[in-house]
Parts: sequence; structure tokens; C-alpha cells
Amino acid sequence: MEGADSLSLNTSRTLSDWLALRQQFPILSREVKGKPLVYFDNAATSQKPQVVIDALSHYYSYYNANIHRGIHTLAEEATMAYEATRDAVRDFVGAAEREEIIFTRGTTEAINLVAYTWGRKHISEGDEILISGMEHHSNIVPWQILCAEKGALLKVVPVEDDGSLSMSAFHELLSERTKLVSIVQVSNALGTVNPVKEIIDAAHRAGAKVLVDGAQSAVHLDIDVQDMDCDFFAFSGHKVYGPTGVGALYGKRELLESMPVFQGGGEMIKEVSFEGTTYADLPYKYEAGTPNIADTIALKAALDFISGIGKAQIRAHEDELLAYATAELKAIPGLKIIGEAAQKVSLVSFVVEGIHPQDIGVLLDNMGIAVRTGHHCTQPLMKRFGIPGTVRASFALYNEKTEIDVLIAALHKTIKMLT
Ligand code: PLP
Repeated sequence: MEGADSLSLNTSRTLSDWLALRQQFPILSREVKGKPLVYFDNAATSQKPQVVIDALSHYYSYYNANIHRGIHTLAEEATMAYEATRDAVRDFVGAAEREEIIFTRGTTEAINLVAYTWGRKHISEGDEILISGMEHHSNIVPWQILCAEKGALLKVVPVEDDGSLSMSAFHELLSERTKLVSIVQVSNALGTVNPVKEIIDAAHRAGAKVLVDGAQSAVHLDIDVQDMDCDFFAFSGHKVYGPTGVGALYGKRELLESMPVFQGGGEMIKEVSFEGTTYADLPYKYEAGTPNIADTIALKAALDFISGIGKAQIRAHEDELLAYATAELKAIPGLKIIGEAAQKVSLVSFVVEGIHPQDIGVLLDNMGIAVRTGHHCTQPLMKRFGIPGTVRASFALYNEKTEIDVLIAALHKTIKMLT
């Protein structure tokens, strides 16, 4: 891949390396309200490098066709590109087999797929599903729906004051009634990194399966589902510099094979007759209908882009940004950081005494700075901290310390205006 390969973000990186890297993201050179854009809403969705944009436009301009069924050249090229992304995702999450990668619309659909298939088969009255108090709504609501249908119980591991998970409560809540633990690896509202290996190990000893919500972790941490030993892992393409509308579910082969199907339709069948239908082998069994071909193909460009730089390099840079932002924010009178767990990545959530987060967000936008304000789809977590929401600045590989300086100066101005 051109660009990222020649741009290793090593410790000797120069200013021109950074400028070249940022220049691969065309949106970063635009202005908002007459000011250079400072994009700190990466936990909601990351920006896309030119290689991803090009992959989309190349597919539509050059080999747009439906996949798997056609024998003509365009269909073969599209099928090969689509299936190449499956191999790239397998590498990205460290899965053993390509058949263990199911394409979905994103993390939400991946979690729902498990709830509707594995959940319908394995959860019965009196069973327990264990989640945490820092889950995104998409890792709460599917389990609430399932529990209501089956008469099962949803149990919640509480969050400590520093934003870490109460591991003592986790071990207490885990029992032989627990059939599934569904846990976020990195909190989108706090940045907390949860000890998923310890959780998975304990859950397996108790006989429970584990789903890891990797929506936030996939872009920052090295993911190795075999080493983690999770049963399911879900992530979204649009948070890893890829397009919206595509993501993936990893599942252990024996589980995916034994689960009932999700949606019915074309692609997911072996043979259809009015007497009975047989289903396709993995992974197609869970991919009914024409999939999101273009975005899936472009996802590979995003994953290649990340591996061309290296997760370790990206992480080192983002850790630096996080440490710098944390120190600078803490120096602002009346500002309180929500979530200061020892293990944290790449985002900082905060509130300012006497000012609604939304008002801060609006004024920052007037100065060209994009942050997220509100409950971040984690309403129970906000309730836990007794706040309506936070201001969240989340960082990506293309952000720079100078942008944090812009944020800090803008916050001083904002607070002055609003108090
Ligand atoms: N889980 C977490 C932790 C998230 O941050 C998000 C999105 O913000 C999701 C799940 C849902 O992801 P998507 O909307 O891409 O399906």
C-alpha cells in the first residue's frame, strides 16, 4: 500500500512524517466555522484515509457486480476482493480460520446475531447473562430482549468510582447459572480497558461463554481472539478507519456451526425446496442476501492501512496524546475527568462544574473542534456517576498535541463565556 508503508510512526518521526500522514485523510484539511477542523470524535467514528475512499470508488467505477453467484469477470473480481477482506479480518483479530469471520453491519448487528441465534438456543428460564455497568446500549438491549423472552436474568457488574470494573463483584456474580458474559473491552464513555483475559478465564471455569464487544478496542489494541480465548468478538469497520455499514463477528467454529441461522434468504442456503431447506456452510450460513459489498471491500484497505503503520506505533502515539490531554485538562479549574482507571486508552471524558456538556460542545464546534457530548449510548453509566452526560475528546492516529492545545485554549474561552 502506498503511503502508510513509508510512514512508520516510530519514535524518530518528524513533523513532515506527521503532515504526510494527516494529508492521507482529506477531511482533515477542511475548515469548520472558518477554523481548521480539530476532529476529536474518533470514538464515534474515525475519519477515512484516501486509500479507503479510493477502494470504494474503484469498486463502483471498475468492477461493481454481485458476488458469489456470477461467472463473469466482474463478479469474480468482486467476489475475490470481498473474500480477501475476510482474510484480512481473520488476520486483524487473530482468528484461526476464515470461516469464523461473519460480516455484519457492525458491532450492534454482531451482538444481535449472537443474541438471536446462540441466545435463543442456549438461554432458558432462570439462566443468567452477565454484563457490566459500562456497556454501550448495544450490549445491553439485545440481552434485555432475550432475557424478557426467555425468563432469564440480566446481571450487571458494577463500576468503581475510578471507572474500572469491580472485579471482586464480577467474581461474586459469576455462578453456575451464568450462561454468558458479554463485556466491553474498552469503554466508549470512559476509555477504561477491561481485563478481558481474566474475565474470560473465570467465565469459562464457571461454564459460561464470553462475547467481547471490541467496538472501541479493535482500533487501539492488538486483538488476538485465540490468545484471549473469547467465544465471540464483535467490531465495526467505521471505527477502524473503514467505511460505515460493515463490521464483523468472530465466533469459534464449533459454536457457529451449532447455532441456528440468523436471517433467511439467498446466499445462506444450500438447497431450497417447499419440503425443507438446507443451509450453507460457514461463514455464509449467517450472511443472507446481497451483502454490503463495496464497504466490505474497502474495509480491507483500512485494515491494511493500520497494519502498514503498526498498532504498537499507533498506540504509543495515542498514549502520549492521552497523557498530555489528561494533564492539561486537569489543570482547568472546575473541570473533572470521569473515568481515571489505571488501564485506559485514547479518550478523555469530562464535566465542568455548572455548565451543561452540550453547551460546551456547541461553543467548541464554533471554534472548529468536534467533540462528542451527552450520554454516549451509556445511560446507565451516566446515572451511576450522577451526571446527564460528559464532554468526550477521543483521539486517533492522526491527531496531534497542537490540536490538544487548541482544545485547551478553546475550553478556557468557553468556560469564561458560560460562567
Ligand atoms: N459498543 C461500543 C463500546 C461502542 O462504542 C459502539 C459504538 O459507539 C457500539 C458498541 C455500537 O457500534 P455500531 O454502532 O458501530 O454498531
